[in-house]
This record gives sequence, C-alpha cells and structure tokens, in this order.
Amino acid sequence: MTSARTYEVRTYGCQMNVHDSERLSGLLEDAGYVRHQAGADGDQAACADVVVFNTCAVRENADNKLYGNLSHLAPIKAANPQMQIAVGGCLAQKDRSTITAKAPYVDVVFGTHNIGSLPVLLERARVQEEAQVEILESLEVFPSTLPTKRESAYAAWVSVSVGCNNTCTFCIVPSLRGKEKDRRPGEILAEIEALVAEGVSEITLLGQNVNSYGVEFGDRQAFSKLLRACGGIEGLERVRFTSPHPAEFTDDVIEAMAETPNVMPQLHMPLQSGSDRMLKAMRRSYRQSKYLGIIERVRAAMPDAAITTDIIVGFPGETEEDFQATLDVVRQARFSGAFTFQYSKRPGTPAAVLDDQVPPEVVKDRYNRLVDLVNQIAWDENKLLVGREVELMVAEGEGRKDAATHRLSGRGPDNRLVHFEADFSAVEGEARPGDLVTVGITYAAPHHLVADGPVRALRRTRSGDAWAPRQGRAAPVGVGLGMPTVGVPAPLPDAPACG
Ligand code: SF4
Repeated sequence: MTSARTYEVRTYGCQMNVHDSERLSGLLEDAGYVRHQAGADGDQAACADVVVFNTCAVRENADNKLYGNLSHLAPIKAANPQMQIAVGGCLAQKDRSTITAKAPYVDVVFGTHNIGSLPVLLERARVQEEAQVEILESLEVFPSTLPTKRESAYAAWVSVSVGCNNTCTFCIVPSLRGKEKDRRPGEILAEIEALVAEGVSEITLLGQNVNSYGVEFGDRQAFSKLLRACGGIEGLERVRFTSPHPAEFTDDVIEAMAETPNVMPQLHMPLQSGSDRMLKAMRRSYRQSKYLGIIERVRAAMPDAAITTDIIVGFPGETEEDFQATLDVVRQARFSGAFTFQYSKRPGTPAAVLDDQVPPEVVKDRYNRLVDLVNQIAWDENKLLVGREVELMVAEGEGRKDAATHRLSGRGPDNRLVHFEADFSAVEGEARPGDLVTVGITYAAPHHLVADGPVRALRRTRSGDAWAPRQGRAAPVGVGLGMPTVGVPAPLPDAPACG
C-alpha cells in the first residue's frame, strides 16, 4: 500500500496569498496528499513530494527570489524524478511559461484566477510527463468556495472580495488579480457562522480594498452593514479587517466599528506618503488632510484604537520636502506600528518608467530616519498603556521568556502583542489558545507589551475547547507555527499590504 504523497506550500507576499495558501493546502489534502513534516523519519533535508510556491510580484527582487529558490530544488528533483514542483500566485500570473523556460524542471504553473486547478494539473503533468502551464484572465471560482486548511485553530481569514479597481502607479496587483469582484453578503456570513461552529473566535475580513466592498452590486454601505451583521453572530469574539483604502473610507464604517462590540478598535490604513504631490504621482486619490481627518474621526469614536500603516519612501520624484511631509503625518497620526518600504521599481507599473528615480543611498537614509521615528512613536504609545488592564486572546506559541518568568503571548483588542506571565493561580484552570485572559500591563517595549503577575480573569471560548483535540497534530501549548496570529496584517517582509 503506497503511502500518501506529501506536500509543502511556500508562501510569499500579502495576506491574500496567505489566505490562498490555506486553500492550496485544503485542495491538496482533499486530493489525498498529506502535509510534509520537516524532519519526519529523522531526515531534516528530506523534501516533500510536491513543493508549491505561492508567489508575490510586488517587489523587484521577487523574481530573483523565486528563481533562486527553484534552483535549490533542481538537484533534489534530479535525484528524485517523482517529485513535483508547482508555481502559482502573482509572479506566475505575470511570467507564465517564462517560468518553465527558465526552470524546465517545474511541473505546473497556475495563476491567481485558477488556484482550484492545482490537483488536476499535478496529475496531468505526472501522467503526461509534461509541464502544465494554465493561466486564466479572470476568476474561475471564488477561492473562498474551495476547501481550506487553516493555519490557526481559533482565527481565520474570510475574503469579501478579490481584485482591485484602483490604479496606484507603483502597484502591479490590478493587472494580476483583475478588477474587484465582491462576494454576496449572505455567503460571507454563512462562511463566518460555519467557522464559528468549528471553533473559530476571531475572523479577519480580507480584500485588496475592503471598504469599496459592495461596489459590484451597487451598495456603497455594504461593508459597514457587513460589520454590523458580524455583531449578531454568537460566539464570534473578534472581527478585524484588512486593507481599507483612505479614499473610500466613509463615516458609516467608523460608526459600525464603534457601535459593534465584537469589531475590534484597530485599523491598518496604508498611507504610502504624507506628501500631496507624491500621493498625486502615486494616483492615491486622497490627500494628507483627508487621511488625517479619518484618523481624527476614528480616534474620536474609539479613543483606544490602534492604527498601523504602510509607507513607501523614495518614490520617483520624492524630494526632502515631500519626505518631511511624510514625517509630519507620522508625528500627527501616532501610529502603533508601520510597515515601511524602500520604493522598488516594478516592471509593468507606470511608476517604473517615471523619471527622477531617487538614488538608493538617499532612499536608504530616508528609510532609516522614518523607521527611527515610527519606532519611537510606537514605543511612546505603548508606554501609555503601562498600568492598564487588557483582555487578550491567547495565541499559539510561547511568549517572551526570561530566566525567572515563563510567559505566553496574546493580542489585545487593538491587536498589540502582549507577553503575559503564565501564572493562573488567581483563576480556575489554565488558558488554551483562543481563550481570553485579563491581565495588567507592567512593561512596554517598542513592538510588544509585557504583563507580569497573576492572570486576573480567564474566559474560556469555543476555540479553546476546539484547540485541544486539534493538538493531536502538534506539540502542546508552546510550539506555534511561527506565523503571526491573524489580526493586524503582518505582511511578509517582501510585500506592502494592499489597499
Ligand atoms: S496598492 Fe492596493 S489599492 Fe492600490 S492598486 Fe494596489 S491593490 Fe489596489
């Protein structure tokens, strides 16, 4: 009896890719593959029978990274011809058969619109002993209808739309993921209810541009209505969303956030630049005053809201004055964190052919100054929380330990990361991932908080109940999957969150 073939999915880029990778894993497991366990049978070097690259095309070096990784697999595949390599995602959608031309040992190339085809294409490539390249120009089926294998026991991504109608000049996403397509609200709510029934307590609504959700079926308030509807789902503890676009961020969304208890006071809103001249050149259809106006209204409605952002420095034509405008917005907006990127020319985008490309040393200098300011403000904002009591959703994975203290980690409603002492002497029982604990903040660091002392309250959730049995697969509390908990999107280092 032949053992099941193993698979591994390597994910690059944004949350949309993380979501799609959960679908790719679900599809392969549905087709009888099992997840490759590195080091199983004591052979760390052993490779999966099928390796899938879910690629990103946002940054210039994305190509080099892919071909570099592929070349590492070439000798392994030569030694094991049964092994298969598949490449999907945005770079596959862009490069198509160039990938098999450059790396003829690749078996399958599939795009962003047909991730559901992977198992069939793998089988066809195996039987016909010929590489299969299948790229569609528009969406085959909504990825959310495909089987999924979620990374987290208690948190899930739920996509509300795919594609984007905007045309930011530095961005390649619209040409690779197409125009915006919206899911029907009923379908989204049904998926959320099913997830909650499975033990999920936190969901993140996902889209390249969530607050234009509903444009396809003509309801400009569809997103705020969706948030309010999530408020009525019993057992759903936390709702987050990513990414909104400032140009379409309307007050009905702020009201829905403030008035719906399980919608968290946390917002990731890409700024990209604080200079009106640069925002115009980026075709970001809002200006500094509008952006700061939104921040002000969010803070008025939710004083404890944490706001994070994305910023690009060194966009073509950016002067020191433009850069100073970005620093001004950062000082006023008081972000709790920011993903900062040095502009990288992306072939195929309008900005790539603009004159006035900024010299790399100038970009680097501005980048360092920006990061220093962002980190200082994030730390100052964190220090204001020392002494506060916070309810955390307990994460999978160990907290920051030191010689004396064993800590676990969790995230607050504002999605700040807190390492808390695993002292349950004042409550009944111990917390499991997905449960909710109340702690007192005792220390602030630039990118996390610490809560030492006994846990003050413990609220068990369905996720905690569901977590234990699921552990049959992995080790007890402590060995996370190394992926940040869902929530504030943590774009993997090579891609700014869209929106
Ligand atoms: S940056 Fe975001 S909003 Fe702009 S085109 Fe890309 S995906 Fe759309």
